[in-house]
Amino acid sequence: MDFRENDEQRALRVAVASLAAKYGHEYWVAKARSGEKTTELWAEAGRLGYLGVAVPEEYGGGGGGITELSIVCEELAAGGCPLLLLVVSPAIAATVIAKSGTPEQRRAWLPGFADGSVRMSFAITEPDAGSNSHRITTTARPDGDGWRLSGSKVFISGVDETDTTLVVSRLADARTGKLRPAMFLVPNDAPGVEYRPIPMEFTSPERQFTMFFDEAALPAESLVGGEDAGLGALFAGLNPERITVAAYACGIGRYAVARGAAYAGSRKVWDGTIGSHQAIAHPLAKSHIEVDLARLATRRAAWAYDQDDPATGEYANSAKYAAAEAAIGAVDAAVQAHGGNGMTSEYGVGTLWGAVRAARIAPVSREMILNFVAQHSLGLDRSY
Ligand SMILES: Cc1cc2nc3c(=O)[nH]c(=O)nc-3n(C[C@H](O)[C@H](O)[C@H](O)COP(=O)(O)OP(=O)(O)OC[C@H]3O[C@@H](n4cnc5c(N)ncnc54)[C@H](O)[C@@H]3O)c2cc1C
Repeated sequence: MDFRENDEQRALRVAVASLAAKYGHEYWVAKARSGEKTTELWAEAGRLGYLGVAVPEEYGGGGGGITELSIVCEELAAGGCPLLLLVVSPAIAATVIAKSGTPEQRRAWLPGFADGSVRMSFAITEPDAGSNSHRITTTARPDGDGWRLSGSKVFISGVDETDTTLVVSRLADARTGKLRPAMFLVPNDAPGVEYRPIPMEFTSPERQFTMFFDEAALPAESLVGGEDAGLGALFAGLNPERITVAAYACGIGRYAVARGAAYAGSRKVWDGTIGSHQAIAHPLAKSHIEVDLARLATRRAAWAYDQDDPATGEYANSAKYAAAEAAIGAVDAAVQAHGGNGMTSEYGVGTLWGAVRAARIAPVSREMILNFVAQHSLGLDRSY
């Protein structure tokens, strides 16, 4: 692996950072407070090609990989505009369709992902099957030419901003009758689909929803990859999800360290600045190192994914773990450096507390990553 980014990747980083700077954290917080969406930012990022960097060129995308998409996620977050919709729509949904969709599904959806005009939510979590996705009960059954979907999902991000949700469910195998995983493209306004916002303690323009499917009627072509796609289709999206959440957290960590250092370097209540006290400088310096290490881990995971490396799963888990922990530490250090101002909306660091805490929980929690590492990397007995 080459640690240097190539010229195109560096240019992408600079360009996305400049877009993020144009909007800034105040914009993101104002949208969160007013209940509005970051529509202008999304549309401009789409027009500039940033949302479609990983979509294959033949469908109008940039032809890059998760490495490029991670750069977009990280730089928007580092500019104070972390967007979860980047994770669910271009990273998961577009990747699943590009890798596992039928040729018709690729033609129908990928050009819209390339320019950002398609936005798609992703739904796997269920009320009674959070960390244990083997336990999901949302089920589809054949009905005439199409399908009927029943069940419910929880914590689904951005349903009010998307038209369609990629829903992980179960489907009875036509030959054996056994239930197996299958994914469906479900229009959010299909008859039998309802969704309600969940009140969350999380400053963000993006909201989470409970979704209900009551015998929702779906056309035949809504089954991703057709009857035989199976588990591979789902796995195509899970590592990009972890890697881009890691990039999102790294970006927030960078933003927090920069804000903390700027404030500590200018605030004076004694003879020297607040930053001249090691009690304030060291946590910021430690966070700088930890965020930097998490960025390396994220880059390794993205590189491995783009090479189809079998170690991608372990690398993606490590990166997500390291990035969430580093970002939580960075926001905490930045809040402390700001004193009381760290808790104000005006200084824009306390506003990120929910975002970094969410990164420790979703899409896979810190504890489930440690379970994975204990079992698969260390060879210990499965604990659950
Ligand atoms: C802001 C936000 C956005 C989200 N967006 C989406 C989305 O768009 N789509 C979607 O499908 N989901 C989404 N989620 C859901 C998220 O993926 C889940 O919250 C997460 O997978 C954990 O599931 P749970 O909340 O049911 O926790 P639970 O599974 O109930 O776990 C509760 C706690 O117990 C721990 N735990 C569980 N099992 C074990 C074990 N075996 N060993 C040790 N500890 C264990 C967990 O780590 C956790 O700390 C989102 C969540 C949040 C907070």
